[in-house]
Amino acid sequence: METEKLDILSLSLDEIIMELDSMGEKKFRAEQIFNWLHVKKVTDFSEMSNISLELRTKLSEKFYIKRLNIVKRLESCVDNTIKYLYGLEDGNHIESVLMDYKHGNSICISTQVGCRMGCNFCASTIAGFRRNLTPSEMLMQIYLAEKDSGRHVDSLVLMGIGEPLDNYNNVIRFLELLSSPKGRNMSLRHVSLSTCGIAPRINDLAKLKTGLTLSVSLHSADNERRSEIMPVNRSWDINELIAACREYIKETGRRISFEYAVISGVNDSPRDAEALAALLRGMNCHINLIPVNKIKERSYSADRRSVEQFSKRLERLGMNVTVRRTLGADINAACGQLRREYEI
Ligand code: SAH
Repeated sequence: METEKLDILSLSLDEIIMELDSMGEKKFRAEQIFNWLHVKKVTDFSEMSNISLELRTKLSEKFYIKRLNIVKRLESCVDNTIKYLYGLEDGNHIESVLMDYKHGNSICISTQVGCRMGCNFCASTIAGFRRNLTPSEMLMQIYLAEKDSGRHVDSLVLMGIGEPLDNYNNVIRFLELLSSPKGRNMSLRHVSLSTCGIAPRINDLAKLKTGLTLSVSLHSADNERRSEIMPVNRSWDINELIAACREYIKETGRRISFEYAVISGVNDSPRDAEALAALLRGMNCHINLIPVNKIKERSYSADRRSVEQFSKRLERLGMNVTVRRTLGADINAACGQLRREYEI
């Protein structure tokens, strides 16, 4: 049974060295295996051609390599965006989106199957939470997309299905593996992590000084309104969240990006803009406005003109603000929507 074997793609190089040592194998073998997994991205021990047949057999008895399969692949004809629906070994599904920007390829990956945060405008959370993803399942989303597309992924955003800070330990281990110099060696400067605002985990992350960019999904500067649309605000309200953000900026010296999904009639009034500017004034931050994506379960919408007006208003109030460009509009590239269509 696979479950009794070790998930080798979730193990650090040091852990593989220790496991191989207990099998009487030298350190350089562990490094070769790590390279096969994270640089050459093989999915079977039989592909490890510089490892003896005997050791490959022993490896496949003790370990397994996590598999994901591409269930659906949608390629945009307007901007090269590719959206993947991946099948997991247990029959669940997750999504990743590969985007082609001027400065390189960026991938958006999932961190959980479903989500328990309950934001009421988000498709990923409607059917609830199933389970956390393992570090290997997060890595494989990137490795498979690279293999399939032939493109090199330059940057990563943890903005797909799930709340990364609700799967904290696995996400941190995943980031350590991804940035391992003898492995995929991606600089965490090229990683953005988006959270709905689990304040104590933001404090934990600050202490690690990873160099990644923190995005905080704010969506309202008013506690009552924010609690209505984001239940997480009932556990850690705006004051606690902003205190954690200030601490994060102080500890890491990094600027925070605040995400704000503009929803007509909900959070886009002149008063909303003023409250937002007052809340964030003086902070080393940037506001990223996202016209809310329509999902079929809600009547929320955003009209282009009011998003522009909201943006201009914030600018006049001295804020650093951009409106997110829509990519993959023809393939429903917003997270959670494809999985829901497929599973229901
Ligand atoms: N759980 C994390 C990351 C996943 S969601 C978080 O909350 O940040 C990624 C981003 O998309 C978040 O800012 C989220 O609030 C936003 N989002 C979710 N559904 C959306 C929708 N229908 N329209 C616009 N943005 C949405």
